[in-house]
Amino acid sequence: MPERKFFVGGNWKMNGSKSSIDGIAKFLSDGNLDPNTEIVVGCPSIYMDYAISKLPKNVKVSAQNCYKVPSGAFTAEISPAMIKDIGSDWVILGHSERRNVFGETDDLIAEKVAHALSEGLNVIACVGELLEERESGKTQEVVFRQTKKIADKVSDWSKVVIAYEPVWAIGTGKTASPEQAQEVHEQLRKFLKENVSDEVANSTRIIYGGSVTAANCKELAKKADVDGFLVGGASLKPEFVNIINAKQ
Ligand code: PEP
Repeated sequence: MPERKFFVGGNWKMNGSKSSIDGIAKFLSDGNLDPNTEIVVGCPSIYMDYAISKLPKNVKVSAQNCYKVPSGAFTAEISPAMIKDIGSDWVILGHSERRNVFGETDDLIAEKVAHALSEGLNVIACVGELLEERESGKTQEVVFRQTKKIADKVSDWSKVVIAYEPVWAIGTGKTASPEQAQEVHEQLRKFLKENVSDEVANSTRIIYGGSVTAANCKELAKKADVDGFLVGGASLKPEFVNIINAKQ
């Protein structure tokens, strides 16, 4: 089975300032970051350039969104070409806040994934069910629907990380149990096996997001199909170092 390097993403959301980025740069530089973890932090686009100049070089900076075309009359949007131009290779797409606060559809997210990949970016593609969908037994149906739309547009799976983020766990302090996370990750890997290939299923990182903290990361990281995390709130705090080092 191909090795899946442990992957920890941060998502700063709409938080931060130059001075708080200086603080994050300090705790990341001072922390003994596990060299076996790939680290990527999602930064507000206006601060990406600054973050790239300040963060240690083993911490990559990602955009939190982008549009589906290279340029044009799309006020306030940013393109993959711009992200690459300032020295970043990563974008988060389909985050639940983009889906549920800003109304991004499965189709739009899939188009964005296709364009970002065609421009050479790596993509953290997010999927996850709402609380009412989980409670009505629709978790698998929802995450498969979201993943299928994305999978149909993926040209190069080596550039994709799937983030399973149950919406009820994001920013709520309610983490999925390691068993709940493992169950969905295993289903997603099976989906990749059946719909893409064995090789892609074995090599694609499927990371978990939703109230991950220093206190719960180690148990989650022990699960066979949990290949890392996407971390919101805790990625702004020194405990992010403990999450990066969850496998130690
Ligand atoms: C996120 O923003 O992707 C996230 C998982 O947030 P939090 O860790 O704060 O729940």
